[in-house]
Amino acid sequence: MPAVIDPAKCNGCELCDLYCPVDVIHMEGKVAVVRYPDECWHCGACRLECARDAVRFEFPLAMLSV
Ligand code: SF4
Ligand code: SF4
Repeated sequence: MPAVIDPAKCNGCELCDLYCPVDVIHMEGKVAVVRYPDECWHCGACRLECARDAVRFEFPLAMLSV
């Protein structure tokens, strides 16, 4: 599953957009959006850089139960 950004927490700092190695994230006004989710590498850079804890990853239940 790709990175998911909570627009209610995002303050528009643009760090996730800056640090994403494959340019998956883009700014839409003052909110970051995962525009190309199929291209996400799950590297975690966006979540590490986000001081607002606005980025999360959602994994399928099957992956959590192994
Ligand atoms: S790093 Fe966090 S607060 Fe900053 S633009 Fe990205 S999601 Fe929003
Ligand atoms: S996990 Fe990595 S590749 Fe995916 S959106 Fe975040 S920074 Fe980009």
